[in-house]
Amino acid sequence: VWKTADDDRSWIDISHPLDADTPPFPGDLPVELLELDSTDRTIPTGQRHLNCSRFSVSVHCGTHMDAPFHFFAQGQTIDRVAIASCIGPAVLVRISNWPKPGWIESRHFESHRDQIRSARRVIIESGWHRHWKTSDYFTDHPVLEEAAARFLVGHGVVLIGVDFPSVDRPPYPAHDVLLGNGAVIVENLTNLDAIAGDSIELIALPLRLTGRDGSPVRAVARVRSGA
Ligand SMILES: [Zn+2]
Repeated sequence: VWKTADDDRSWIDISHPLDADTPPFPGDLPVELLELDSTDRTIPTGQRHLNCSRFSVSVHCGTHMDAPFHFFAQGQTIDRVAIASCIGPAVLVRISNWPKPGWIESRHFESHRDQIRSARRVIIESGWHRHWKTSDYFTDHPVLEEAAARFLVGHGVVLIGVDFPSVDRPPYPAHDVLLGNGAVIVENLTNLDAIAGDSIELIALPLRLTGRDGSPVRAVARVRSGA
């Protein structure tokens, strides 16, 4: 039996599994996993076989973070995103009762205004994560209105996470506002319905990829005690 810290149980994984079946953003290359060696190998070479693999993945595949450099040549690259932006309190805003998934507006955040101002991280649960691996996941997802993006940065938000593949579509008004104001975006979150309440502690750390535009993240959350 492998031991884990007791504390582990309070953390909820809000990342999608990353494997060769992870659907890439349309037009992007699929995830490639290569098994370089395996403990199953029994060739009697006298060498010990280990499990060892290599993978190649778009930095915008699966649960991942966009750095300002994704849209702006002078923007912060993923290795320079402040660790403090990626760890800390977050407000979980649940947007339900869609007539059909559509536009996320400032009004959806208004009742959370004070919480947003103090937590400075916002996670949106639209329920769209339930469409993961279905044919409409990348085409019919909700988007964030430009005014909603302005509302968030106006309240000091440094990280916004969503359970859909992109905060908007071309010409990307929400990406422009969020990344243009130095906030980072986490896309393709999942499992947000497993979290009770709306006040969480979030960890979503990107790899320290030198000078690049994004990175897969392992995003986890737990209910904030005493909040
Ligand atoms: Zn992205």
